[in-house]
Amino acid sequence: MTTALLSKLDLDDLVAGLPTKLLIGGRDADSAHRATFGVRNPATGETFIDVADATETDAVSALDAAAAAQQSWSATPARERSVILRRAWELVVGRGEELALLMSLEMGKPLAESRSEVAYGAEFLRWFSEEATRIHGRYTHAPAGNGRILVTKQAVGPVLAITPWNFPLAMGTRKIAPALAAGCTMIVKPAEDTPLTLMVLGRIFVEAGLPGGVLSVLPTSNAAAISGALMADARLRKVTFTGSTAVGKRLIAQSADLVLRTSMELGGNAPFIVFDDADIDDAVQGALAAKMRNGGQACTAANRILVANAVRAEFTTKLTERISALAVGPGYEDGTRLGPLINERQLGAVAALVDDAVIHGATVLTGGHALGGAGYFYAPTVLTDIPSGARLLREEIFGPVAAITGFDTEDQAIASANDTEYGLAAYVYTRDVNRALRVSEALEAGLVGVNRGVVSDAAAPFGGLKQSGLGREGGPEGIEEYIETKYIALANP
Ligand code: NAD
Repeated sequence: MTTALLSKLDLDDLVAGLPTKLLIGGRDADSAHRATFGVRNPATGETFIDVADATETDAVSALDAAAAAQQSWSATPARERSVILRRAWELVVGRGEELALLMSLEMGKPLAESRSEVAYGAEFLRWFSEEATRIHGRYTHAPAGNGRILVTKQAVGPVLAITPWNFPLAMGTRKIAPALAAGCTMIVKPAEDTPLTLMVLGRIFVEAGLPGGVLSVLPTSNAAAISGALMADARLRKVTFTGSTAVGKRLIAQSADLVLRTSMELGGNAPFIVFDDADIDDAVQGALAAKMRNGGQACTAANRILVANAVRAEFTTKLTERISALAVGPGYEDGTRLGPLINERQLGAVAALVDDAVIHGATVLTGGHALGGAGYFYAPTVLTDIPSGARLLREEIFGPVAAITGFDTEDQAIASANDTEYGLAAYVYTRDVNRALRVSEALEAGLVGVNRGVVSDAAAPFGGLKQSGLGREGGPEGIEEYIETKYIALANP
């Protein structure tokens, strides 16, 4: 650990070296209206940099560049695309400390978690650099004997990617890497709270030798204007989005006009089920990771912790002890285990959900309030005796609040777990392998962690059921999202 990096001076140096412009066609560009917007440090609430604010005109310029580059990029040998992705992986890993510090500054997460995100986010670049060379079609005889069937795979075409602020690097690389591997060009619109990480990544791709136009990065304070302009242009072929279900629904509706392909990674309301035969210490460790990682600001966060009544007291005591001991502070300061929330709106939303639960009768075991002072800090919190009417059982908390409820039977646990419009992640803690499989199959979720509190992996398909989304990111399934299937009917030779 380089403690030196944590000094104010290093933060100043870091900020001084950051890009502030749009990246269009492989070059830095000012906004067409010369406008800028400020990016805040959530630990202080202060703006630390102003960046170019992309407009509709800039979006169209980026699409001009993407459309012009599309054919040559998809015709570029897969091995060459692969080499560029691999180089980008090396550069990201090589600049890992700088990117980690940047994420702790713009998003707020503790430096150790930023470092983990660098490794995880970079891995998509390496994994899909390998996958680029394994896009296969097939050749077969028509069953009736009247011809041959040739199936080929082609890049979908220019893609718009819209990413959230909670994992500034990984939510970008999870889209960019498979798209580029498949031969698609892409325009990335990073979240306005955390645009800088992907602005740096865009420059890393230039350094890695990516041809201009293949990847543009458009920070903006007006997401709807950018997506509106691009999604009304028939040269765009796909939109891939990670963010809230509300915005995802709007984009799905908008995509109907030009019948765009969509991938949607939306909200979650993950159940975390602890059975009475679980290893309780393991389950506490898993719950701590599944709940408190990223300050609870993860779509996979354990939103509802469901514990068998026989072990509930022991589990609750141990988890409360661990949660109340978390050191809260700016992510870039040594020793911090829990950073600030992303902005004032999120701080207000978390406080409102906790207050609602308490008004309905929930018990606060620790925390339960904002910390006051500069920045957007909320105390690490444990709630129990949650009444069924509490909003936080139905809505994403997106904050450091563990909400524990009890159950008696396996059927009850499954019914409660599935009682939500979401279906992204779920977690099961048990020592009984049959129960683990039975419950995993019964859970309405795209991802199930069995005796694991963190499930994401570049080699595995990530995505949700129900209102948590459409499509998968990561693994072989992740590249399919950027590939069209074409059938060529051949006469018998
Ligand atoms: P958000 O929906 O407010 O914003 C996400 C992105 O959409 C941002 O880039 C934002 O600028 C953009 N956006 C906002 N309004 C838009 C509009 N009208 N048109 C086009 N783009 C628009 O979500 P958020 O607060 O940034 O992120 C938190 C949400 O993301 C949570 O619900 C979380 O569960 C979800 N999320 C899901 C996954 C997943 O993989 N399923 C991963 C991370 C986060």
